[in-house]
Amino acid sequence: RRRLRRLRQTLSLPKTYLNTRQALGQGGDILAEFSAMMRQYLEIKAQHKENLVFFRLGDFYELFFDDARLAAEKLGLVLTSRDTGQGKASMCGVPHHAAEGYILRLVDMGHRVALCEQVGDAPKGGLMPRQVVRVYTPGTVMQDEGNGYIAAVFQGKGAFGLAYCDVATGEFLATTLDTEGKLLDELHKIAPVEIIANPDLRPIEAIKNNIGPVPNIYHFWAFLHDVARDKLLGHFGVANLEGYGLVDEPATCAAGALLHYLSEMQAASLAHITTVSTYAVTNYMILDKNTRRNLELTETLWDKGVAGTLLWVLDKTRTAMGGRLLRKWLENPLLDINDINTRQEAVGEYAENAALRGDVAVQLEKIADMERLCAKINYGRVTAGDLAALSNSMAAIADVKGLLDGASSGLNTYFAAEIDDLADVLSKIRAVIPEEAMPGQMIAAGYDQALDSMRMLKNQYIDALNVLENREREATGIKTLKIGHNKIFGHYIEVGNAHRAGLPSHYQRRQTLSGSERYTTHELQQLEMDILTVNEKISLAERELFIGLRTAVAGEIPRIQGAAHMVATVDALLSLGRIAAENSYVRPEMMQGGPIDIKDGRHPVVEQLLTETFVANDAYLDDEANKICIITGPNMAGKSTYLRQVALISIMAQMGSFVPAVAARLPVCDRVFTRVGAGDDLARGKSTFMVEMNEVANILNNATAKSLVILDEIGRGTSTADGFAIALAIVEHISQAVGAKTLFATHFHELTEAEGKIPSVVNYCMQVAEDGEDIRFLRKICRGGADSSYGIHVAKLAGLPAAVISRSAEIQKGLKVQGVFPEQPGQRRERVRIFLEEFGPELAPDQVKALKGLL
Ligand code: ADP
Ligand code: MG
Repeated sequence: RRRLRRLRQTLSLPKTYLNTRQALGQGGDILAEFSAMMRQYLEIKAQHKENLVFFRLGDFYELFFDDARLAAEKLGLVLTSRDTGQGKASMCGVPHHAAEGYILRLVDMGHRVALCEQVGDAPKGGLMPRQVVRVYTPGTVMQDEGNGYIAAVFQGKGAFGLAYCDVATGEFLATTLDTEGKLLDELHKIAPVEIIANPDLRPIEAIKNNIGPVPNIYHFWAFLHDVARDKLLGHFGVANLEGYGLVDEPATCAAGALLHYLSEMQAASLAHITTVSTYAVTNYMILDKNTRRNLELTETLWDKGVAGTLLWVLDKTRTAMGGRLLRKWLENPLLDINDINTRQEAVGEYAENAALRGDVAVQLEKIADMERLCAKINYGRVTAGDLAALSNSMAAIADVKGLLDGASSGLNTYFAAEIDDLADVLSKIRAVIPEEAMPGQMIAAGYDQALDSMRMLKNQYIDALNVLENREREATGIKTLKIGHNKIFGHYIEVGNAHRAGLPSHYQRRQTLSGSERYTTHELQQLEMDILTVNEKISLAERELFIGLRTAVAGEIPRIQGAAHMVATVDALLSLGRIAAENSYVRPEMMQGGPIDIKDGRHPVVEQLLTETFVANDAYLDDEANKICIITGPNMAGKSTYLRQVALISIMAQMGSFVPAVAARLPVCDRVFTRVGAGDDLARGKSTFMVEMNEVANILNNATAKSLVILDEIGRGTSTADGFAIALAIVEHISQAVGAKTLFATHFHELTEAEGKIPSVVNYCMQVAEDGEDIRFLRKICRGGADSSYGIHVAKLAGLPAAVISRSAEIQKGLKVQGVFPEQPGQRRERVRIFLEEFGPELAPDQVKALKGLL
């Protein structure tokens, strides 16, 4: 009792608001002392601790406690308070008709909102029953602008199941992944806005830190294999899941649970999710998170924007669907050489045939985002204008199909034959919806007899108004008398003040204005009623007909989605074809294995951004003597650019694109790895040597002889001696154990000594021309090691004061004499010897030992 009293005292202290935790923590007896409504609220809130609860009270949704404080701040609402019987609760609210806008804003900021409605009637003298009818979450709301993926992760015994869905387009995919690393890479690629998981999920922290959204733990039973399977079977109305390729247990568990969650959160139908596609990550080139970031495939390192990325260069798609697909291709380069060739062949056709390209592009331009429209149809949010846009898209699809008729490439011929031009759906829509659909004119004339005759009747009433107006003018002799209309009074007769006196007695005054009066008559009132009635009937009939059409079109959604996907493919291929032609790319010759052999390759993005001409460079890496290229050269010489261009060319080729080169012969790579030394990775900022080494370890453990490895200044994050030792050990390991084709840019010139000692290592350097004190970057790669790092020259170029430059030159000379920092390859041993002689007695025994090891 004492405890209770103390608690109550604390809570009722003036200015002390309860917070949700306190309020929920009351429980038992104390809860009884809250007002009845507050008790109801707290019971609901206890079920929705993670969600902001919008609690319906009459015409408002109210939020309480911490929810109120948060919403008031985020939405700029006024915070008030309400007595709970136990102290004050913060409160704020929004009018019910405006709630959706506020809710969507909160969801956009990453919050979840539970909408609690009044359901049914209050028992006499009792409390209105209330219930959460819907939960808005970032991944489940349907927004016009699109919201991104919601993912479900299932932690199984030896593997992860992953399913994800974009509710705005109905796209639904599932896969099974055998390691946490692959799961994280895949999640990173998908970038879901919301993640749910089963309670067993282990890598919660890793997902939170690397991906963003905190996994939301969902009912364990929804992930049970039988439950998940049943959910999928029921939703798709099929007897087994083999048709979807959904055979892996983990993938099935994730997919079923995701559907469960969606139907729980989503009041509307999920009928536009017509299929689930399964895929294996092993069908695609693996690009881990760091590689994708460093190569700036879809977002730049410095501002996360798309400008300056490979996608930015390649994406000239005309439709939203094509844009999404192209991005997907870029994120998932193919491994099957036939698939690659099929795409490249079609790209080639567009590259060569400018007329076809232009004609098809004109039609693509007219095609709306049909995938999104399908979702809108399903959610009942589609407008007559949307359906008109859909029918125009279908007309354009028929034209695309026709244009592809004479095509020669395999894919284009296939589309010419197989694209469903949806002619029947098109004429169904066109029969109902007029070209310029608007309220009251949503349904075309001639479609429905009853509607037409109602409209005719309405026109008769309008005519009758004119007749009435003329008659009253004549009867009163007032030439300026006129019949007008406004929303409040409906139709009225308006007469100027000058004529007020002699008006007939059956004129009833309705409204007085400054210069005139408005009247009605019995006859006008009658007409008014008739017009209102017929208008109402017309809009009812229009609505009904519209819903009929919507339902009919909804039944064709799978076909529409199928056509939309083919059009997206055409669009993506055409975009690649156009880029190939405009940027002078060449079709790479794809091989199952063998050397990477690029003639005059260019960096696809840098060449677009440069004002001066880009210097093209060859690349040759094979599985024998030229497996590992060590690339030296001063800062700014073009090493990083060269490394990336080889990786990008390989990725472009496998997504089906042509490549920036004069000729290219390429093996299919299973993975591309890119690691950038800590010092070079500006965007990461606080990166440590440890992180860098972790990443290298990942490469050494996962790369195969079919991989391409790009190492840019690895070993920079530590002391020179350590860094060099590690760099050398990495090269040895790749040469002996991994066998991957490797490009290694380094400032450790000593590394060039590896050529001839470690098998398959060759040296290249970025050429510079020395011009007295200055240097000029030629950006041409050639055989051999660079012999000086030219750091001081670069500092001078960068505008360091002359005094600093000359002093550093002095120091450099001094150091060369002392031989502390080796500069010339081949002289190292000599320098170490001199150094040991001079300083040996002062050094620690293990340092001496390490140095002797270098001799
Ligand atoms: P490094 O890694 O050797 O320090 P970068 O690759 O970062 O040098 O290149 C520095 C700059 O040189 C780039 O920003 C680019 O503008 C230019 N550059 C690099 N390669 C070329 C090239 N092949 N042709 C023309 N300019 C180039
Ligand atoms: Mg660099």
